[in-house]
Amino acid sequence: MNFNGHDLSALDSLDVAGRLRWVADRFGGRAGIGTSFQRNGMLLIDLRCRHKLDGIQIYTVDTERLLPETYPFIETIDRHYGIRIDVLRPDAAEVRKMVDDHGLYLFFDSKEKQEHCCSIRKVKPNERMLDKIDVWITGLRREQSAFRKQTPLYEVLDRHGRPILKLNPLYDWTDERIVEYIRANDVPVHPLYEQGFASFGCVICTTPIRPGEDKRAGRWRWFNAVDDKKECGLHLPAPAVPETEAETD
Ligand code: SF4
Repeated sequence: MNFNGHDLSALDSLDVAGRLRWVADRFGGRAGIGTSFQRNGMLLIDLRCRHKLDGIQIYTVDTERLLPETYPFIETIDRHYGIRIDVLRPDAAEVRKMVDDHGLYLFFDSKEKQEHCCSIRKVKPNERMLDKIDVWITGLRREQSAFRKQTPLYEVLDRHGRPILKLNPLYDWTDERIVEYIRANDVPVHPLYEQGFASFGCVICTTPIRPGEDKRAGRWRWFNAVDDKKECGLHLPAPAVPETEAETD
């Protein structure tokens, strides 16, 4: 597979640091690690900083409803590595309209409204970043959930006619391998792991997981019977916009 004239099969035989360097050498200034500070993302941040791959930005999306422990953790990471994580936020007018139309807690009403909320608060800010970069680097791993079992090392996305390389350099890493790296390299760890959280989304929508559950099982638990993906939409096609009360007969 080719991307902007580069043969992507070169990535297959590289280790994770080599994959990041490959990106920085070819797309420096046009590449970003998007993270919500799970161990996977922290490992990528650590390698990017350790190898001084400054051409790769680090960004996160602040939905303005993140678990409260996440905000000081962002400052901890900035201090630890001497960096400034780029914090993206939703469009204020879009949030206001959504809340006016559907209420602040619309995500309880239906999958459609939850996906709408995720779209406004998380997916759209991420897409605005994708409009500025060529390579989107994620911490997705096959082990995280049944839905993510097919995660490839790389894929080329179509972004309004412009190709974007989505790179998942840890796609085949196990939990054990990640934890071993984090411990061995003294990488900062999100404090909510200690309370059983496996991912760090929004307050209410993210809960701790129980032993044996998928890493994504703590998301939107009230939809467990109808949602086997447990995705916020970042890694899915765009959802439909729900009708407002006024538009519904
Ligand atoms: S996780 Fe919940 S509050 Fe956060 S954007 Fe999605 S639906 Fe909205």
